[in-house]
Amino acid sequence: MENKGLVSPCGLYCGVCGIYHAGANNDRALAEKLSKAYGVPAEKLVCKGCRSDTVFEYCRGCAIKSCAVEKGYEGCYQCDGFPCEKVESFPVPEGKKNILRAVPEWKRLGTEEWIKAEEKLFSCSNCGSRLFRGARKCRKCGALK
Ligand SMILES: [Zn+2]
Repeated sequence: MENKGLVSPCGLYCGVCGIYHAGANNDRALAEKLSKAYGVPAEKLVCKGCRSDTVFEYCRGCAIKSCAVEKGYEGCYQCDGFPCEKVESFPVPEGKKNILRAVPEWKRLGTEEWIKAEEKLFSCSNCGSRLFRGARKCRKCGALK
């Protein structure tokens, strides 16, 4: 499964992350927008996914990822301690909300089906193109999410 490299242990699937999306689609306008939102210069907004060798700086030192790696888990869905204090103290409220939603789904569906479900959840209902978490409208057809 090609998208496994995008499977971050926390359940914030990288395939539907705005930063990954901007890079993968070479979307300069989106990169500029995210740059302002994150307070990071646009050229530093590069990420090829949590498990790649090019990880966005905020995610590089992630306590959730280190914990999962240490325990030998693919993701928090395998952990009896979920949601632990590392999840509870996740610095971005919208991200935490998504973690709490996504991890139980991941546990229920298994990795392959869960990836499909996440990709479907963050797709345009009008034209089907891939969106990302936090997208308000489709960047291809303009339909509202
Ligand atoms: Zn669309």
